[in-house]
Amino acid sequence: MGRVPGTSVVAAFALVTASGLVGQQAPGTNLEVLQVRPNFYMIAGAGGNVGFQVGPDGVVVVDAGSAPSADAVVAAIKKVTTQPIRYIINTSADPDHVGGNAAVGKAGQTLFTQGGGAGIGADFLGGGASILSVENVLGRMSGPSGQPSPFPVSAWPTETFNQPRKYMYLNGEGIEVFHQPAAHTDGDAIVFFRRSDVVVSGDIFDTTRFPVIDIAKGGSIHGEIAALQKLVDTAIPSVPIVSREEGTLIVPGHGRISDQLDVVEYRDMVTIIRDRIRDLKKQGLTLEQIQAASPARGYMRRYGSDSGPWTTKNFVEAVYRSMSEKVQ
Ligand SMILES: [Zn+2]
Repeated sequence: MGRVPGTSVVAAFALVTASGLVGQQAPGTNLEVLQVRPNFYMIAGAGGNVGFQVGPDGVVVVDAGSAPSADAVVAAIKKVTTQPIRYIINTSADPDHVGGNAAVGKAGQTLFTQGGGAGIGADFLGGGASILSVENVLGRMSGPSGQPSPFPVSAWPTETFNQPRKYMYLNGEGIEVFHQPAAHTDGDAIVFFRRSDVVVSGDIFDTTRFPVIDIAKGGSIHGEIAALQKLVDTAIPSVPIVSREEGTLIVPGHGRISDQLDVVEYRDMVTIIRDRIRDLKKQGLTLEQIQAASPARGYMRRYGSDSGPWTTKNFVEAVYRSMSEKVQ
């Protein structure tokens, strides 16, 4: 469509600003609270992005941010609504997404006060908000391979699922949680708020860098591309009236709110780099030789890094290792 990447998002922010609802800084923190839709908000600056839906049933939070930011996240939610936090849905087991589970959950109140609603007693829930995730997230958080858990019991998911699609109906809208089995990790979930038309993607989609593919935790480039495709298929762009700048909004794991076209571009970028690495591997090049051939060229300025926890080299290696069984 010849659009400069990111233009629609700038416009979307401008639109929200015009209604005076955007960019409220929570006091004493670096958190930014954006009103994405009339009943849907995003909190940036608490580790991973936090999304939350507000309504008469209470608050449904997607990801709780990092542990050090949790109190500020609770304060930011309470500034928006007096309704209790009912649910936390986790998009992975990463500390920057689940670290706030204990504090945010404790600040909430389960829908299942008598227990049994989720097949779990109210005593176990401690009365706090329910925490929903893919089963593998609970496995990681509760102490993998006999090691002590890095998280308190109150941070663990209280309700898990393993099927491709889990759903709820709260605050007058359908909420679909799609398990993506082997993308960023093996415990990823995409959360789609159908009436609000907002998708929270977790780290499958990260506008600040190449996607983190955590091979040790079951991630793979094939599942990553499939998950990006799922995001594209779930979202609808502003067609046929492109000038309206409407359409489904995607809250990424990190970075800025996006639309379907942004995810299409990101998926294409990841696919192109995957294809380059696959071709070089087919030619018999070693990982070292592939790194030297710069398969991420053209995208490094925007998404790459030479330092920090997820470098361009890390990404290329993860793509390579995803294929090391057999070249696909
Ligand atoms: Zn993250």
